[in-house]
Amino acid sequence: MIKAVTGKILLVNLSDAAWQEEILPEAMYNEFLSGIGLGARLLYERIPAGANALGPDNVLAFLSGILTGTGALFAGRFLVAGKSPLTGGWGDANCGGSLAPAIKQSGFDAIFFSGMAERPVYVHVNDGQVTIQPADDLWGLDTIETEERLIERHGKRARVACIGPAGENLVRFAGIANDRGRMAGRSGLGAVMGSKKLKALVLEGKHKTSVHDLETLKEWSKQTANLMPKGKSAVPAWALAPLGRLMSGMKTSFRMDGLMALGPLQAWGTAVANELSILIGDAPVRNWRGTPAMFPARVVGLRRTIPTQRKKYHCVSCGLGCGSITEYKGRYGETHRPEYETVTAFGSNLLNRNLNAIYDMNEYCNRMGLDSISTGSVVGFVMDCYEQGLLTQEMSGGMAIQWGDSSAIVRLVEMIVQREGIGDLLAEGVMRASLALGSQSERFAFHAGGQELPMHDPRLDPAYGVIYVSDATPGRHTIHNTLEYDMFRLWTRVSWAPEPPQKSPKSDRYLNSEENAMKNAAGSMYKSLLDCAGLCLFGAHMGVDRTGFFELLNAATGLDLSPDEYMEKGRQIQSLRQAFNIKQGIEPAEVCTNPLVTGNPPVQKGPLRGLSYDLHGMRQKFWRAMGWDEKTGHPLTLPMETR
Ligand code: SF4
Repeated sequence: MIKAVTGKILLVNLSDAAWQEEILPEAMYNEFLSGIGLGARLLYERIPAGANALGPDNVLAFLSGILTGTGALFAGRFLVAGKSPLTGGWGDANCGGSLAPAIKQSGFDAIFFSGMAERPVYVHVNDGQVTIQPADDLWGLDTIETEERLIERHGKRARVACIGPAGENLVRFAGIANDRGRMAGRSGLGAVMGSKKLKALVLEGKHKTSVHDLETLKEWSKQTANLMPKGKSAVPAWALAPLGRLMSGMKTSFRMDGLMALGPLQAWGTAVANELSILIGDAPVRNWRGTPAMFPARVVGLRRTIPTQRKKYHCVSCGLGCGSITEYKGRYGETHRPEYETVTAFGSNLLNRNLNAIYDMNEYCNRMGLDSISTGSVVGFVMDCYEQGLLTQEMSGGMAIQWGDSSAIVRLVEMIVQREGIGDLLAEGVMRASLALGSQSERFAFHAGGQELPMHDPRLDPAYGVIYVSDATPGRHTIHNTLEYDMFRLWTRVSWAPEPPQKSPKSDRYLNSEENAMKNAAGSMYKSLLDCAGLCLFGAHMGVDRTGFFELLNAATGLDLSPDEYMEKGRQIQSLRQAFNIKQGIEPAEVCTNPLVTGNPPVQKGPLRGLSYDLHGMRQKFWRAMGWDEKTGHPLTLPMETR
């Protein structure tokens, strides 16, 4: 057996309140590694075609990364996966904090839940011992209360993943929380957990992860640690917005070195991008149909948000630490500093200038167990429909819903969580709500394949657009984009990955070229490897040659593979995710998004003025670069094990 894995998984059938261990063959690890690879392999096989995502046949997996617990830096993210109730296809989401190593310490590489309990339960796994406990007293509690109760019961060493009322009420964009409201948000897997009446997973244990070559692991981790920023960010906070504005006006783009991003990220987290992204046209304004002139970006700028940081924190085995606890004047008083996505979804996207209300929504989503991206998007859709008269005051229960009205935003989200009034329809997500409201509302529905779009405008970077409609989990910003491709520096290790020039015309991004297709494919394959490893994207920004990513995989496992061979595994795992969707009845070529985000029609004002790209053609070239049929998006070959 390769090293760095336990060699076994736990299967819990909630219908029968039964569990069993399963020893996996070494060949499976050799072929799929762990994390998302193992998940794709097993869920493809074990979720039947046509399974109801909110029914007993769906299987929900908690997966640890192969580098987690090995001492490798940034390897502290776990992944949840299953059939998504939003898209009807492959769903996954990942999160940091301290849960990832606890999966392995409990004795397993992954834990799979099938069936449905009759009454609420939680599952406690401690060093291979499993108990299924009643959770009637926890049902209805928010995620932080649930975690506190379970830690009180099982001790401080216990690690908890749980759902809040949104998951219990089967809100299709509910997430799964750990570490006091941090969220594996996307794909609606919190609703899957809710459908199984599984309130929480509690993990304990002392299982140690053994590795093949500890010295090499230590050496690379030391080198990586030495690259961490020391002290204050070299870039002053005030300089970021003007810098962004300056670069936005240029016709040339410069290759980004991820080391430059570490200081700002450490100092301010993803909030670093809030103001900048509005100015350059990355952040949607007024449900994607506005321009930066409609929203004063300084409202969410660092000069307003930095003073509220109270305490910094980081995920387990992270050398950077991009998180912090933020104080504010509002319902909760403090919250995890909101991520860029949350601030944008509830800020510029809704023309909401009330920063305290944004912080309130951040904490509320964390506590209720909601994906803040989808939630803000649904509210944006409602505001547009209300303005256009497609949704009346009568339908909203007497509430006027105007752009920027923070009280209406708060009330709508509360109604979604409780499925109260119009909230019952909105809890189904933008795609289903739009179908119910009629075809005129389609113009205001911004989703891809059923999942609400994240807060990055593909008109600024068409690589986002290609991935939004091509990845097995459509509408995802963390799979690949041009900026991150630059930072990952794959060309330093992977023989076929194109090396971007130090500077190039911005118009190059819009070309339907083989080179762009290869970059999109390389980024997509690499992301699946990161999710096999449990590695944080922000750590990966340093570049594969600086983190020794491929060397770490060999040192941890004892495999002796080249970067090209690992990338081939990444391709196979992406093929399997794609095959999962096809098995579930999704035709990849039919997955589409709102034409507005392809520049059709082009906007007349602002930084995105006149920008458009050939989404259909670029997707075909991407599929070909992935080794898939360019017309249908069907993989031409699948890994041996699954044929
Ligand atoms: S960089 Fe941030 S998200 Fe990534 S592991 Fe560190 S603290 Fe967690």
